[in-house]
Amino acid sequence: MSDSGIARKVDRLGRVVLPVEIRRSLGIEVGDLIDVSIDGQRVVMRKVARGCTFCDSPDQLREFADRLICEACVTRLSEGRPIT
Ligand SMILES: [Zn+2]
Repeated sequence: MSDSGIARKVDRLGRVVLPVEIRRSLGIEVGDLIDVSIDGQRVVMRKVARGCTFCDSPDQLREFADRLICEACVTRLSEGRPIT
């Protein structure tokens, strides 16, 4: 038995399917990055927050060439201003 009541088998390639209830609860979607680490005897999985490629802001993101860029950086780039 698991602490959460949701047990999943590990397949021969080491993969585990995250239960849909957990994915929905944490807003995990296809393509999201998951950080996997060990805490004692526990495997800890954490959704990696996605942010702007340039400033790391999580707000008003657009996807371009598989990267995320926030509206503020899009404006700065379009005006030829440096991104700091
Ligand atoms: Zn930005």
